[in-house]
Amino acid sequence: MTDKTAGSEALLYNPLRSLFWLKRWFWDKEISLHGGRLQILALCLISTAALLLELAYHHGGLGLRDALAQKSLVVFYNVKAVVLADLGPSIASILITAAICRTLFGLVIALLDLAMYRKITGRPFDWEGMINTAAVNGVFLLTVVFTFTNPLVASWLEGYMALLDHVPTLVHFDGAVALILACLLGDFCFYWSHRFSHKIRFFWYLGHINHHRNRELCQLTQAVDPQSLILDTAGGKVFVLLFLPLVTKLFSLDIRDSGWALIAIIVFDTWTDPSHSVALYYLETKLPFLRHFRKVLVTPAVHYTHHSREERHNISDGCNFGARTTLWDRLFGTYVEPPQVLPRTGLFSDTADYCRTPLRFLFRPWILMLKELGSNKLRYWPAILFGHASYKPPVPLQTER
Ligand SMILES: [Zn+2]
Ligand SMILES: [Zn+2]
Repeated sequence: MTDKTAGSEALLYNPLRSLFWLKRWFWDKEISLHGGRLQILALCLISTAALLLELAYHHGGLGLRDALAQKSLVVFYNVKAVVLADLGPSIASILITAAICRTLFGLVIALLDLAMYRKITGRPFDWEGMINTAAVNGVFLLTVVFTFTNPLVASWLEGYMALLDHVPTLVHFDGAVALILACLLGDFCFYWSHRFSHKIRFFWYLGHINHHRNRELCQLTQAVDPQSLILDTAGGKVFVLLFLPLVTKLFSLDIRDSGWALIAIIVFDTWTDPSHSVALYYLETKLPFLRHFRKVLVTPAVHYTHHSREERHNISDGCNFGARTTLWDRLFGTYVEPPQVLPRTGLFSDTADYCRTPLRFLFRPWILMLKELGSNKLRYWPAILFGHASYKPPVPLQTER
């Protein structure tokens, strides 16, 4: 009888206990590989699954199925997938081979980063950081599916595309010229989207900050930019999602006849896609001829420097905002030549939270923003939400982000 009463009391307290248990394990307690074997096994399985997903996403793996079925291939992210039947058979088969190599290369570089991290940086590989970002990436990547399969978002985008049907095409570009223009236009939009994501509180604190947290950055510890979250879609990516289709309608870009230029783009992308790789950065420090490409291309070292937390690289809330070409950074004065020694990465503040638990990583920035809104008068809300990233409200937070 006594046991039964004790059991029912335990049941009564369970929900609260579960919450404390969840908070303790997924919020307060940082991921550690010093736990029991079962915990290590679970963490390894989670991270392997999430890493494969991330690599497939970043290195064109998801598009390989259509390419292998000889249907279509995404060559450049802001241009419609090329229908392989529209190309000559030899170009089509080289493109498919190049796409397979691009995915495999991404995997090889990720593993090389793991093997060479200590030799290159002098610090041990961050296993716990890798598991944390892998779990977080799994969540972020799922939001891609949820956002774009959301009927409301889909119908809204369809409506916008239908509206674009009424926009006249002023000039028709095709072939390699169209491809080069697509690269320049796409990167122009990416550049400004990216700069706004660093400058405006809403996009920085509730989105892009996650991509910049890691202090032991490499290809396997990079947190995917949660670019599919509604917030980021509505804000930072508005140029890519809305402005770019409009421009490409005004100046029609048909890349089907680009021929070898298509192959060249895939080859350059294969090299520059692992843009958080310490191994590829190290290679650039050793092989001077690779550094010549920085005049035009965002090489892995150029983007890695974008993640620097050294103040001298803080040109305008960061530096090197381009994705494919350094042209816009050079033109707008935000280009920084990558140093010969890899910079330390992470947020500029030394006391910022590294967020080494998935839940804290995902939700802490949102909770802090709500706390700021709650402890400040309504008239400060516009600045708290959309002010400059460096804005501090009259009642500031007691903690760094
Ligand atoms: Zn950034
Ligand atoms: Zn990055």
